[in-house]
Amino acid sequence: MKTLIQGGWVVGFDGKEHEIINDGLVVFDGNRIDFVGKEYAQPVDKKIDAQGCLVSPGFIDTHFHSGINASDYILNDSTKTDFFASNYLAHGGPTREGAHSAHLKDVDVGQRFSLIHVLKSGVTTTFDIGGAGGETERYVDMIDQVGIRCAAGPSYKNVSFFHDREGRLEYDWDNERGTKGLKAAIDFAQKYNGACSGRMTALLFPGHVDSCTPALLKDTRKAAREIGVRVQIHATIYPYGDDLKIIADSGASVAYSPLKYLKLGIVMESFDKYRQAGINMGIGTDTFPKDILSDMRYAAIASRVAEKSFLAGHPRDVFNAITLGGAKMLGRDDLGRLQKGAKADITIVNLRDVAFGAVRDPIRSLMETAVSRDVRTVIVDGETLVENGKYLRLDEQELLEKVQVKGEQVWDSVPKWHWTGKAIDEVVPPSFRMK
Ligand SMILES: [Zn+2]
Repeated sequence: MKTLIQGGWVVGFDGKEHEIINDGLVVFDGNRIDFVGKEYAQPVDKKIDAQGCLVSPGFIDTHFHSGINASDYILNDSTKTDFFASNYLAHGGPTREGAHSAHLKDVDVGQRFSLIHVLKSGVTTTFDIGGAGGETERYVDMIDQVGIRCAAGPSYKNVSFFHDREGRLEYDWDNERGTKGLKAAIDFAQKYNGACSGRMTALLFPGHVDSCTPALLKDTRKAAREIGVRVQIHATIYPYGDDLKIIADSGASVAYSPLKYLKLGIVMESFDKYRQAGINMGIGTDTFPKDILSDMRYAAIASRVAEKSFLAGHPRDVFNAITLGGAKMLGRDDLGRLQKGAKADITIVNLRDVAFGAVRDPIRSLMETAVSRDVRTVIVDGETLVENGKYLRLDEQELLEKVQVKGEQVWDSVPKWHWTGKAIDEVVPPSFRMK
């Protein structure tokens, strides 16, 4: 089936870089792009009117956790005083006794919600770090149902993190845990790489540079080569010495998740420096909310703050990061661009709104103003998943009700696993007294 999208501004790709085609057209046939340009004379089966809209390659979120529920953001609030700016350990480091009540990750509500949430910000491909851990088969089915393109795998590490009752962090090292985890990740990759009609790409996700032994990391590299998949790991904020040169020379990409660290009062030093060192950059949502358009803006502004220069964080560079950069990270030349033969992964953003005013350069407008609620249509692999800002495959209100119930369960469980044993409102005092 052939579908024609009549823009607006179409972000085409000339083989080397993006270009803006005013009053442009995109035609896709099945799950492939057939035409990008100004005039198309052949018959089509369906037309989508995108006047006043930006017609963009679907965005790529290079650092995302479906396992972090909508409710976890409160525990990541760095204004709380239990354990200053403790990052993920605020919700990922329970007491030993409480460990079994701390992880309420669930496929059907929490993870499904997170994926639909990020999809609605225009993300057509996401790197779901560790999302596949646990109920693997149900997870893959859920990805199939949601319709998003996904790089996934279970995360693994040698360490378990715990807090004692005084709030001291303890690392439990276990070589066998890492080896078993890697084996499960290899099994996942061998079974599911290419699943969901080709939308699933398996990756290996050793947890963090400080939670894996050097031996586990070496085994990961070896296994990745043997089974032909890529590796992603949580790594660096403050590069030292020639760190950036080492990263660039290795050919590794870096996914920058600005919001997570801005919340902690930290900026990466810096998006521009990494790019100028020749490192391929992507942008990730990581925390909550998962709005890649806001993160594009945060990445640009954080780079200006880090560089103390208004010239840093160019709209071109952050837009490249959420499209071509993400595709390169995945080793794909058929994603992140609108070009004949590329996958029909397309995001349409409405720019005809008072919030945008007069539009001259739609990429600047996108970076300055757009948020997920401006995303009108999201198409993945030729399938329309979001139309008029609504996800089509389930009732959003019903899902939200379930998310609220789940969130309250998570908050109620805090005294069972948090080292203080206190209720959520004591660990994270509300902004105002609640009656
Ligand atoms: Zn992460």
